[in-house]
Amino acid sequence: MPGGTPRGVRGVAILGSTGSIGKSALQVLARQRERFRVVALTARDNREALDRQVREWQPRLSGLVAERGPDLLVEAATHPDADIVLNAVVGAAGLDATLAALRAGKRVALANKETLVMAGDLVRQASVEGGGELVPVDSEHSAVLQCVAGREGGLARLILTASGGPFREWEPARIRGATVAEALNHPTWQMGSKVTVDSATLANKALEVIEAHYLFQLPYAGLEVVVHPQSIIHAFAEFCDGSVIAQLGFPSMELPILYAFTHPERLPDSGVRRFDPVAVGAMTFEPVRTEVFRAFRAGVEAGRAGGTAPAVFNAANEVAVAAFLAGGIAFGRIAEVIEQVLDVHRVEPVRELDTVRAADRWAREHAHEVLA
Ligand code: MG
Repeated sequence: MPGGTPRGVRGVAILGSTGSIGKSALQVLARQRERFRVVALTARDNREALDRQVREWQPRLSGLVAERGPDLLVEAATHPDADIVLNAVVGAAGLDATLAALRAGKRVALANKETLVMAGDLVRQASVEGGGELVPVDSEHSAVLQCVAGREGGLARLILTASGGPFREWEPARIRGATVAEALNHPTWQMGSKVTVDSATLANKALEVIEAHYLFQLPYAGLEVVVHPQSIIHAFAEFCDGSVIAQLGFPSMELPILYAFTHPERLPDSGVRRFDPVAVGAMTFEPVRTEVFRAFRAGVEAGRAGGTAPAVFNAANEVAVAAFLAGGIAFGRIAEVIEQVLDVHRVEPVRELDTVRAADRWAREHAHEVLA
């Protein structure tokens, strides 16, 4: 279809289209074909899955990052026909794509953790400069956005919920020796393997706290996490008068993905399971066992330290999780590696991307040394 996208139809570029979020996004878009058009699809290395998607969606741009390098992500993120860029890339390569899209004035539906954790202030700056807009896809941040949208001002505190992961009730010694299969057995969410392990260590929740700090401009004193094993309430927003608004729904990424595309509006969507309080039954809440889930504690402390510390936390965690998934270390070692790397890191303020990249590189190298 030459000559751009038809009026009223919004162009969507999906970075990471063969991953868990990318596939959910295409399921959502398959029900919204009159509203959106897929203009770009990129995947890491899954040629077969990408080819199938390309045959169905006929995007103007598609490719594998493994073949064409990370510049492909920037090309897709700044594609002239893209109004919305869904950044569902895993890893630090997602950061450049976010920055480029924001500078090009796009809406970035953000599912790439590294973007805000590594460079929260720089990302904010890029959207001010380029007129782009950052909208979270993660269920907890989407929940917060849905609680605060149209209620500007007066936000006092956020409580993000955590399912608690598969080891919520386990004894510390048993968690220490947990196998890969046990760590990948998440009770409520179906996700990629890296984020599933992060949910088992609760490192994922620490990353979400850091992201929330940048997304909603709240100090860490106003950011809390509560364990909610049913994963029905995704976040609470407390306002200055003490009123609390929460967002609820059965666990599904399709709703937050669609909301990120349409915020602050909503579209009817037949694909989301209707809410049923009776089917939910009792909802329970517990504190996070911070003395057991030390990766969580280390991550929130890194967030509070600011500067390069969150990037170092993220990089050390990535190296440790990869080692765990490869069978190289015990589950309990993940948190120790993170702590050992953060212990010797000298935090620097982040005024440019090079500072973050250097910290990221240093943390990866140091984590490998700790592992060896
Ligand atoms: Mg989440």
